[in-house]
Amino acid sequence: MMSDNAFIGLGSNLSTPAEQIKNALVELHQHTQICLQRCSHLYKSAPMGPQDQPDYINAVCHITTSLQPLELLDVLQSIENNHGRERLKDKWGPRTLDLDMLMFNDLRMRSERLILPHYGMQDREFVLVPMFEIAPDLIMHDGQTLAAWISKCSLNGLQRLPDAIDFESIAS
Ligand code: ATP
Ligand code: CA
Ligand code: CA
Repeated sequence: MMSDNAFIGLGSNLSTPAEQIKNALVELHQHTQICLQRCSHLYKSAPMGPQDQPDYINAVCHITTSLQPLELLDVLQSIENNHGRERLKDKWGPRTLDLDMLMFNDLRMRSERLILPHYGMQDREFVLVPMFEIAPDLIMHDGQTLAAWISKCSLNGLQRLPDAIDFESIAS
């Protein structure tokens, strides 16, 4: 039963970023234990950390899954690796694909490999705004609404790209 709900943040700033994101959505949905429920538009955001790198393309998707959280992390990391993700020593350097597990149900956990909810959501406009698009009624783990979080977060020039992702062709 794919009864657990998770939100995944997708990001890329190398090698045709929009294609990296769309292909990653297809690959997630193709996994037998993952069902893609919704995905946001693509957004363009300024890089975090080192500024001498291209802008990012980001999206957020909602999946249901029968995987355990650490199994889902394994799947996310293997998709990243298949997209040629190189782990550089500089934090927040350029990457072909980054898949962050933002939330898994209401689970809170802190292990060596996995922190849930993702620690960085609160001040990342490129996570919160796409998430609001697909889950406007979401209540965050501190009891505040997602909308309240967004109202306290700088938008840093975040741009929603005009073309919607063709969800039907991905999730069919
Ligand atoms: P940030 O985590 O600040 O967004 P990043 O995405 O660039 O930075 P990565 O190099 O992709 O960081 O990941 C570093 C490690 O974070 C991974 O090896 C993974 O084990 C760990 N991690 C902890 N919690 C999570 C989570 N919720 N989702 C994805 N990875 C996580
Ligand atoms: Ca990240
Ligand atoms: Ca990551």
